[in-house]
Amino acid sequence: MDTTRSSGHEKPSSSREEAPLVEPKKTAEPGRRGGYGGRWCHVLLATFLLSFTLLYLLSRVGWSPSQAWPQAQGDGAVADKDNKGYEDASSSPIGTRKDKLLGGLLSPNFDEQSCVSRYQSALYHKASPLLPSSYLAVRLRKYEALHKKCGPNTPLYKKSVEHLKSNHKVENLECNYIVWTPYNGLGNRMLTIASAFLYALLTNRVLLIQVTDEAVDLFCEPFPGTSWVLPLDFPIKDMGSNHRNSPVTYGNMIKNKRINLSVNSSAELVPSYVYIYLVDDYKHFDGLFFCEDEQLFLNKVNWLVLQSDIYLIPSFFLWTTYKDELQQLFPAKDTVFHHLGRYLFHPTNSVWALITRYYESYLAQAEERIGLQIRTFNWPHISFEEFYKQIISCSLQEFLLPNITNDEQFYLSRSSNVGRPKAVLVVSLYGRYYEQIKSMYYDHPTTTGEIISVFQPTHAEQQHTEKRGHNQKALAEIYLLSFVDVLVTSPFSTFGYVSQGLGGLTPWILLPSWHEKAADPPCRRALSMEPCFLNPFYFNCRAKKDIDPGSLVRYIRHCEDKVQAVKLID
Ligand code: GDP
Repeated sequence: MDTTRSSGHEKPSSSREEAPLVEPKKTAEPGRRGGYGGRWCHVLLATFLLSFTLLYLLSRVGWSPSQAWPQAQGDGAVADKDNKGYEDASSSPIGTRKDKLLGGLLSPNFDEQSCVSRYQSALYHKASPLLPSSYLAVRLRKYEALHKKCGPNTPLYKKSVEHLKSNHKVENLECNYIVWTPYNGLGNRMLTIASAFLYALLTNRVLLIQVTDEAVDLFCEPFPGTSWVLPLDFPIKDMGSNHRNSPVTYGNMIKNKRINLSVNSSAELVPSYVYIYLVDDYKHFDGLFFCEDEQLFLNKVNWLVLQSDIYLIPSFFLWTTYKDELQQLFPAKDTVFHHLGRYLFHPTNSVWALITRYYESYLAQAEERIGLQIRTFNWPHISFEEFYKQIISCSLQEFLLPNITNDEQFYLSRSSNVGRPKAVLVVSLYGRYYEQIKSMYYDHPTTTGEIISVFQPTHAEQQHTEKRGHNQKALAEIYLLSFVDVLVTSPFSTFGYVSQGLGGLTPWILLPSWHEKAADPPCRRALSMEPCFLNPFYFNCRAKKDIDPGSLVRYIRHCEDKVQAVKLID
């Protein structure tokens, strides 16, 4: 395998080919710099010797690019919205070109020690393949100002809460809110928080999140000088229960004609709050949220409470009202979650300690890190043996991992200078996959002579979303996966979607297997790093009939792992 590449796994050229030790001599072009040849030679020699000495000294003091603090760039280089901010990721070594404010994405107005991950993640993540647009940076700063003005315990927040308590109908309040409530696992939650945040940004609302016991001490505050945590004395009390059949969901209000959109939404008909129920089993009336006309009504409601477990963002890209705004915010449409995720989700110091301790202990020294995110669901069912077979055939076919051989002689006679090992990070609820992959590389040498080390941080064997420690470890593993160079993910898994988005990684997705057999082909390269919107609304409100949402615009396509679902591509 060509070990000079840090990512991207095309077919390897001969693994034992070596670059020539001495470059072939080049003769100076006649008539051009020839007269200065001697002096140039001296200058070059002196420069070479100086660089060599410097490099040697730096290596003696233990400097490595990944430990280097980012170059101070103030607010960071912000991408020009027309050139999409493409950066030549290969042009400089990791670390030396890192900007702790992520190209203007992060505000500099935080105390660094209260949340070390906020400015340190840049040292571990690959630099973003695409910088955020300058417009996104401006809008984030504007949002932060709004949040500070309307956030918990401000006079304007108190006024809106009083309005909610008194159940007055519509009133032109200065601050409008979207309250996010937790539903399902951590991956689902992170996708819906990002969705709620972008919705807030587009509709000038303030995002508040309900932090339940099991989620305390997971994330730092993302907005400076204020809080996004919904105060405990918030007057709506039953937010934890499933609202599928609740009379206060928007869908049920329409269904039961408690609100009537055709009446031009007079003040009497606009409630002070509604639930938006968009859990994966949402019904037709709930799905009307995705209709642009309904948004005109929802804009008048002071408090929206979101209960959802799906990534909603691709649907916003079908609204004509926000088309230009979204284009300016995200000139590259496949970077929405990537930027929002890096902006919003900063692990607390206790989780960051888990992450960095594990990384430094097991992954930092590797030449390349390969992440295998292995998640199985009850349906479609697949046995351990079949899924294992699929994971290995994907990894070998796509040249992500080297094959094994019985040729111990080749291994024993190889040069001792085989380079640093490659680390495989297995992330799964179960320990069996790790055990088997580890044994594979322990029992056999690789055909390439590479050394493969296999690690797994935890294997809880069961999902325990209700436990704080379990969620902290889940977040740590999502983050560790986002640091790898090459990622393989499982189908339908929001856990995997979040890792790929945070890492800016386009993964190989294991394809769903039907009839309990390993899928063939076993995997494919994703179309983009964006998460999949697993349950899109097929009803087209304008046409008043079902239309495939993956057929409407060039930048919304069917997902690799679920053909009925859609995702953003660029
Ligand atoms: P999804 O179900 O794959 O879409 O991902 P979610 O994150 O929404 O829910 C799965 C939950 O199960 C996670 O939040 C964790 O609590 C747990 N879980 C699943 N896979 C893993 C894993 O590989 N490692 C850890 N630590 N927890 C996991």
